[in-house]
Amino acid sequence: MNLFQGLKAKVKTKIPLSHYTTFKIGGEADFFIEPTDVRELRKILKIAKRNNLRIYILGAGSNLLVSDEGVRAVVIRLSSDYFKKIKFLGNYVWVGAGLKVSRLLKSCLENGLGGIEFLTGIPATLGGAIFMNAGTKEGCIGDFVEEVKVMDYNGKIKKLKRNSLDFGYRYSNLKNFIILEALLRLIKKDKKEIRNKMDYFMNYRRLTQELSYPSCGCIFKNPNGFFAGKLIEDCNLKGKSIGDAQVSQKHANFIINRNSASAKDVLKLIDYIKGKVKKKFNIDLELEIEIW
Ligand code: FAD
Repeated sequence: MNLFQGLKAKVKTKIPLSHYTTFKIGGEADFFIEPTDVRELRKILKIAKRNNLRIYILGAGSNLLVSDEGVRAVVIRLSSDYFKKIKFLGNYVWVGAGLKVSRLLKSCLENGLGGIEFLTGIPATLGGAIFMNAGTKEGCIGDFVEEVKVMDYNGKIKKLKRNSLDFGYRYSNLKNFIILEALLRLIKKDKKEIRNKMDYFMNYRRLTQELSYPSCGCIFKNPNGFFAGKLIEDCNLKGKSIGDAQVSQKHANFIINRNSASAKDVLKLIDYIKGKVKKKFNIDLELEIEIW
């Protein structure tokens, strides 16, 4: 039985999500659909609702740990050209949620627009970056968002202006929406200055982060007044492994997949780290990554 009859987009079944996460971990999704446009997206939501199927929105999968058993759900990825549009209007740019942040930065550089260079090296889509309010100590994407076009899970499209948006540390108030596009307000700059900043941020990442193994970046949020990586390092956990999941030698808040780590390995390692940090510092580490 084809539940999703009539869609132009191919409806894939039993798709291993390990192919779509930067951790290279994750079991199968029951359904995996890349809608061609918003009308199809709405149709998918309607069919899923009618059939009591859960929906997950996947960006670049760079902040996700997907269970080895996968998800009994419809995974939607906004990867068609429709969701990757980019349009510059003076210092403003409308960006589709499916566009990779690296692509956005390249286009901004070509247009002499800066401000968001600190996002260099974050392997996200624009949708995932806004949902998570991605950033570094240099800034967060939320500071540049003027408006977000979203669809709610009933298929209704809304435009949320800056005054109704709330961004915090790895937080946005967009949990109940699918992000379709966003309007960013950038800063006119000299192209050379932008390029230099981007190079600087990329080099800093290469120096400080473990980029040669699959991971999903920082596992834990920094507790108020502390760095999670420092707390983990001070528990002598750099290099600690469970199966093929290992605390990075370079950045203790990264867990790397050395080859064939399972989600179970990563979860056990997370529990182990939390236990050690709690015991030594009486601090409860909170996850930054999302678990599916
Ligand atoms: P995903 O991981 O696919 O999804 C994350 C969440 O966003 C999920 O809840 C998903 O449902 C939701 N989502 C995605 N797209 C949409 C949409 N269109 N509408 C609604 N919800 C959506 N993060 C930082 O903040 N700073 C860093 O410096 C940083 N460095 C990293 C370095 C590495 C090497 C890696 C692997 C990750 C790093 N991250 C960093 C983490 C990650 O890149 C960010 O959290 C990013 O914002 C996730 O975007 P994504 O597109 O991959 O989203």
